[in-house]
Amino acid sequence: MDTKIYKIDLEHIDASIMQEAGNLIAEGELVAFPTETVYGLGGDALHPEAARKIYSAKGRPSDNPLIVHIADFADLERVAKEIPKQAKLLADAFWPGPLTMIMQKKESVPYATTGGMDTVAVRMPNHPIALELIRKSGKLIAAPSANTSGRPSPTEAAHVAEDLSGRIAMILDGGPVGIGIESTIIDLTEQVPMVLRPGYITPEMLSEVLGEAVIMDPGIIAADDTTKPKAPGMKYKHYAPKADMIIVDGDKDAVVKEINIRTKKAKQEGRKVAVIATEETQQAYDADIVLCMGKRDDEDSIAKHMYKILRDCDELEVQVIYSESFQTPRIGQAIMNRLLKAAGHKVIHV
Ligand code: AMP
Ligand code: MG
Repeated sequence: MDTKIYKIDLEHIDASIMQEAGNLIAEGELVAFPTETVYGLGGDALHPEAARKIYSAKGRPSDNPLIVHIADFADLERVAKEIPKQAKLLADAFWPGPLTMIMQKKESVPYATTGGMDTVAVRMPNHPIALELIRKSGKLIAAPSANTSGRPSPTEAAHVAEDLSGRIAMILDGGPVGIGIESTIIDLTEQVPMVLRPGYITPEMLSEVLGEAVIMDPGIIAADDTTKPKAPGMKYKHYAPKADMIIVDGDKDAVVKEINIRTKKAKQEGRKVAVIATEETQQAYDADIVLCMGKRDDEDSIAKHMYKILRDCDELEVQVIYSESFQTPRIGQAIMNRLLKAAGHKVIHV
């Protein structure tokens, strides 16, 4: 299949391209598009065949449910059996935005979309191209991240093309995304609302709006396999670069020293090394490649660069990656959740 790639000017969104893209969705084809979190791979959410095409294009296990994207709050009625009162509160506060809510599904939502579950995950993205695509298609759009399963999520259209060219009908290129990590997922079917995937919106922010406690799924805090995460997607080894990756955590100077010792040794063994660093430390490393996440206290920059840097490591064919740790105050939990997975939970404390 020929994949059409269109560059879209965000200031003047081309209506005819958007209509062409919307028509493809309505015909059951797949279109990749930017959202504020990462690029999504969209298909008609209520059409089982479109969902199957998504799993097949990504090589995604079919028990890993898709998030349904909507453009208006009223669309929720088309997929949710009942709308919990918390959903209204959270939507008022965070939609459109990087928050996905899980509720009981309506019969109209095919099991192909929900990976066989009786619940459905819904989000209203905060991106003009995503919203326009949903509206022009006249459908609701199921869209997981537009990467090959197991690869880092795409934050630029070029990443999507790298993974999915020839497998999907169209890619809408809206430039690099704003946030760079996937949405926070909150499960509203639990007694106590539960975060199944940490993201830009923190449990504290959710709890404040709801006026009640919000807990974190114990399965995503566990560093081992003893407790299963509730979101099927969180159990897979995700976001993994091809190289062996190790996170070094601790006091700045001790981290630099440890990484330099290990880098020297790896280089002696003839292995190509990349270090994931910050503006403050990048000069201090003696590796083949030093990749900078931004200023250490600029959490948004770190989130935005993370996946691109992991992809760069693949591209540059490094064999070992040493990464600093990013326990930042607000979205550090979301960042570390992804980085720890990329590193297969290999962490050295110094
Ligand atoms: P992605 O679309 O690639 O960002 O992945 C979507 C994530 O949402 C995966 O981790 C899924 O397992 C999770 N998810 C989607 N629907 C549900 C659901 N009904 N219950 C639990 N987790 C879900
Ligand atoms: Mg994904």
